[in-house]
Amino acid sequence: MKIQLLPSTFDGAGRATPEQRLTCFLIDDRVTVDAGSLALALTDEQRETVRDIIVTHPHMDHIASLPIFIDDLFGTLTEPIRVHATEEVIAALEDDIFNWTVYPRFAELKNEHGPVMQYVPFKHGEEFKVAHLTVTAVPVNHIVPTVGLVISDAKTTVAFSSDTYQTEEFWELVNRTQRVDALLIEASFPNDMAQLAEVSRHFTPATMAEELHKLNHNGLDILTVHLKPAYRERLVEELHALRIPRLRVMEPGQIYEW
Ligand SMILES: [Zn+2]
Ligand SMILES: [Zn+2]
Repeated sequence: MKIQLLPSTFDGAGRATPEQRLTCFLIDDRVTVDAGSLALALTDEQRETVRDIIVTHPHMDHIASLPIFIDDLFGTLTEPIRVHATEEVIAALEDDIFNWTVYPRFAELKNEHGPVMQYVPFKHGEEFKVAHLTVTAVPVNHIVPTVGLVISDAKTTVAFSSDTYQTEEFWELVNRTQRVDALLIEASFPNDMAQLAEVSRHFTPATMAEELHKLNHNGLDILTVHLKPAYRERLVEELHALRIPRLRVMEPGQIYEW
């Protein structure tokens, strides 16, 4: 499985910059988890192959360019963009984004080939298929309804915490999954901002490290994500100071493969 955290900002030479402002993980050039930087960073080839988007929650940094992605492709889509989410997340997208005011209700619109956007609801704890992947989603502890995910292809399994604070069901799911190759876990605020992290339901490096005690698997890669750009340097220092084996900060634009 090949995963890239799509960059959202670029330097003058067009290279991805290290700050992560938006969240969108591209899997095997076909599926994404969230859609923050979806319309900003795909190659022309990837724009033709990505047709399935899993939305963990409706916060703007996770959906920012979903409407723009569909808008860009509107005339040329020969199959709909499928948006996989829980019913409550779909309702939020319809009420607050695709509401004819902020954006057209694309799920009701067609081009000459047919519908351009289709919602595919999933339920907590029930396995579902997305393209070549098998996915299970469970609620995590964030300030809006949010899911963590375990995603497998035939060979590899990767767990995504999404945005969360201390949580239980996600770890139960991860621990009952036979083999997990990698965990992508958030660490949003530095340690001295623990209070803000708690009220906004995010981790600091210290609370994330504490949380990792709930993980029963050993030897997996741990990639930290969702570092708030304003505190990135401190976060990187604090994360490295934890000296957790195989823990790295995930770099936007880099391809990780298992
Ligand atoms: Zn969030
Ligand atoms: Zn977020």
